[in-house]
This record gives sequence, C-alpha cells and structure tokens, in this order.
Amino acid sequence: MIKLAQFPYKNDYWHHYLFGRLMDASTAAAATLAVQLAVALIMAGTFYASSGERCTRYWALSGLLSALGVLVVIVNGGAPRLMLSTVGNSAIIAGMVLQWWGLRAFYGKERSPLGWIIIAGFFLWFAYSFVAEHALRSRALLASVTMTAVFVLNLVELLSKRSARASFAGMLACSAALVSAAAFITRGVGVYQNDPLFLPDTAGGIGVVIVYLVPMVTTLLFAMALMLLYFERLISDKHRMATQDELTGLYNRRAIVSAGQREIDVAQRLRRPLSVAYIDIDHFKRINDELGHDAGDHVITEIGHLLKDSCRNIDIVGRYGGEEFCIIFPGMDREGVSTLAERMLASVRRYRFRGQFPVTLSMGFTVLSPEDQERSWTVLMQNADKLLYKAKSEGRDRYCI
Ligand code: GH3
Ligand code: MG
Ligand code: MG
Repeated sequence: MIKLAQFPYKNDYWHHYLFGRLMDASTAAAATLAVQLAVALIMAGTFYASSGERCTRYWALSGLLSALGVLVVIVNGGAPRLMLSTVGNSAIIAGMVLQWWGLRAFYGKERSPLGWIIIAGFFLWFAYSFVAEHALRSRALLASVTMTAVFVLNLVELLSKRSARASFAGMLACSAALVSAAAFITRGVGVYQNDPLFLPDTAGGIGVVIVYLVPMVTTLLFAMALMLLYFERLISDKHRMATQDELTGLYNRRAIVSAGQREIDVAQRLRRPLSVAYIDIDHFKRINDELGHDAGDHVITEIGHLLKDSCRNIDIVGRYGGEEFCIIFPGMDREGVSTLAERMLASVRRYRFRGQFPVTLSMGFTVLSPEDQERSWTVLMQNADKLLYKAKSEGRDRYCI
C-alpha cells in the first residue's frame, strides 16, 4: 500500500512537495522486488529462446540471482542477521557482475577475473563488517561503491563499441548505466554523510527516490536495453544473411537482382545511363583441378575483392554464382565502362594467386542509355551473358560491350 513518507524534513516545503508524497521505503522495496522478478522472467524467456548463446545464459542467471538477492534482503529487512544479509547483498552484486559478463560475452569476450574479485571482495568485506559490528552505514557505503563500479565497467564495455554508441539500444544501455552510477554515487555520498534518508531501513523522501526508485527504473531499462542490443544484432544478422554472399562478403545474387531492378527504375526516372557487367573467371576448372577446391574458393574471394577495389563506391558488386560476378554501375555510360573494364582486367592480370598462378577474366557489359525502353533486369543480364560468351569465344581476358 502506498503511504505518505515519514520524512524528517517536514519544515522544508519543497522537499515535502516534491518527495513527501512518494511511497515509503517498504513499498518501494516491494516494488523493486516485483521489477527484479519481472526482469528475471524476461531474461529467462530470452534464454529459452536461444539457450546456445553465452550472453543469454549469463543474463538469465543474472536476473535470477538479482531477484533472489533482493528477495532475501527484503525478507531480512534491516535486521542484523549476518548470513541472510551477506548472502542477499552478495547475490545482488553477483547478479550485476553476471550481467556485465553477459555483455562481454555478447561482444565475444571471455568473462573477466575482475568479476570474481568483485564478488569475493564484496562478500568477505560485507561479512567482516558484520562480524566487526560496523554500523549499517559502512555496508551501505560498500554496496554503493561496488554497484557504481560494476555500472562503470558496463559503461566502459559499451562505450568502447562503435556499434553500441551508434544504436538506440546501446545509447539506452549507456544512459541507464550512467544514471544508475550517478544514483549510487549520490547514495554513497548520502550514506557517507550519515544521512538517515539514504540508509535502506530509514529511507524517506529523496532517499526513496535515490535508493529505490531510480535504481528500479534503471535496472529495468538496462536489462531491456541489453535485450534490445541482442534483438538489433539478430535483425542485422538476418539482413546480412539475406543479402551477403558467404564466401566473398559481396552482395549475393538475390541482393544484386533486387538492386538491379531498382537501379533500372531510378535510371529511367532520372534519365541517366546504367551499365551492368557479367564477369566470369577464365579456365577456372583448371584452377580447381590443379590446386584444389579450397584454393579455388580463395581465388574467387580475392578476385571479388580486386573487382570491388577497382570500382567506385556507388557501384554494386556481387557474386552471381560459382565463379561469376555481376556489377551494376549506376550513371555510367559506354565510355566510362570501357575505362573501368580496362582497369579491372589490368588489375586481375597483375594478380598472382599464391604469388605464381595468373588469373584472367572475361566480361560482358550492357549499357542502358536514357533513351532505351528496356526495363527488365532479366533481359539486361541475358544480353550481358551473350556478350560474356562473345568475349570467351574471342579468346578470353577481354570485354565486350
Ligand atoms: P571458362 O573460361 O569457359 O569460363 O572455363 P571455366 O573452367 O571457368 O568454365 P566455367 O566457367 O563453366 O567453370 C565453372 C567451374 O567453376 C565449375 C566448378 O567446378 C567451379 N566452381 C563453381 N563454383 C565454385 C565454387 O564456389 N568454388 C570453387 N572452388 N569452384 C567453383
Ligand atoms: Mg562460369
Ligand atoms: Mg569460368
């Protein structure tokens, strides 16, 4: 039940106005537990959806540990019970460390031994503080410092990734970690100054906001942001697999066909020329027979990169199948195509596979001028294919337009 906070600064009108109507510490603690359980459930759901992933395993375990930790701490209340309090708080810290390890795993890194040091250090220090009968304040301070440290570690992990800095989920995770760290630092300062508003069992007013509400929201947002990061990666993987050729990293046939049809439409609308090249490696069977299929694959990859390097960055370069490539040259007319074809043939002639095997190409080019009414990709490619075979029959290592 939401009660008016029993705050000690009753004479301060603004404090009363701003924070006095907020829930009391025990309601806030219960809400924190509810949020933690919800996060744990969501994390468990992600884990079941993709249990093979290291990161979701860490995150599921992290959600579980944090929720259990918060449960134990809340059941224990402010009572000075060594075991429950130490285990509960350590579980929360371990949960946070696992979340950080999960983030590292997400970025393909190993879990860091620093995590073990944080967990063990916290556990021992917390237990010692109990045994030595330090005031509650010293343990609250220890918790604030440790939690700040883990959020800073998360922040460092995220900020070192360009992909995280550039994505919505990454920015959300950074903001949540930053606000969390700020809240824990504020709490640490409050606790250090012995302000009862910031101690868990006497929290009130602004203390409830800093000790419970802000961490509750940022915990939820941070966990959601991690899932969103994961989701963003799934989407981009899906897109990459649908459009990228696995061997060369160039566009695959499907992507080239859809880009080709789009470029034809754009060229007609803007009354611009458009050229398309169909390219085949000469006598490739020999390369396969003499050097083996794996070496053949290397040749395909390296030739693909040579072609890409010879083109402008607006050209669309893809592998059309086997040892055949297709390149779309938006805005390029017959003259431009001749220059480019010479450049590509020359760069491949200079190339030697493993420093000794020469490779040559044959190419067929179709140029669509602004007056042409042809709008079909298939017809364009059929023409390019005919010209490619003309180049082959005329002796290879050449192009036909
Ligand atoms: P041509 O000069 O007439 O093109 O002669 P060619 O030997 O290159 O003939 P063709 O273009 O028909 O060769 C296709 C060969 O390429 C057949 C197949 O063994 C090989 N090949 C196709 N795809 C791959 C691939 O992904 N990897 C490897 N290593 N070889 C492939
Ligand atoms: Mg071929
Ligand atoms: Mg060939």
